[in-house]
Amino acid sequence: MADIKYKRVVLKLSGEALAGEAGHGINPPEIRKVAEEIKEVHDLGVEIAIVVGGGNMWRGEAGAAMGMERAQADYIGMLGTVMNALALQDFIDQSGIPARVQTAITMAQVAEPYLPLRAIRHLEKGRVVVFGAGAGLPYFSTDTVSAQRALEIHCDELLVAKNGVDGVYDDDPNKNPDAHRFDTLTYSEALR
Ligand code: UDP
Repeated sequence: MADIKYKRVVLKLSGEALAGEAGHGINPPEIRKVAEEIKEVHDLGVEIAIVVGGGNMWRGEAGAAMGMERAQADYIGMLGTVMNALALQDFIDQSGIPARVQTAITMAQVAEPYLPLRAIRHLEKGRVVVFGAGAGLPYFSTDTVSAQRALEIHCDELLVAKNGVDGVYDDDPNKNPDAHRFDTLTYSEALR
């Protein structure tokens, strides 16, 4: 086995990562590519859990901006993440690695409920675990949930890929060329 830096990781995948160039919806060839990359890392001996977003389907904030009740709009967003999780599971399975979906909103026919100890057991058995439905709570994003899941299932690292951005900046670096990237950032600095 290769000398691996991290034994167990959470990978946060934004919904857009599954949408291809269109930026919305589910794009099977794109998901197949993602699944193949996951398999490569898995084959190194890394245990992988994935938190998948739903921005390719729907964002609660956008629904609220168009007059919907925010919590209701957020539940639609969470259901979108479950669709993504199922698509991802399919292609990870097809790549030869067993995958399981766990959802924070119970839907027994399509996925297991979120059960941290069981998720750990899946990882130990070499399965990839895909977490859907975020935290199951409105007013959250799947980024927050990624950190929570990484802590609860004892991951060594949380890997987050954000729309071409390599760190935390004081402004959007895609729009502002003078945006400053922080190498370190304390909690109180972030609040300020
Ligand atoms: N969402 C939520 N609670 C959660 C996770 C997600 O309400 O715990 C909703 C929220 O409306 C969000 C949508 O699901 O806009 C999609 O999730 P997110 O924006 O995190 O997806 P990503 O940007 O990663 O694709």
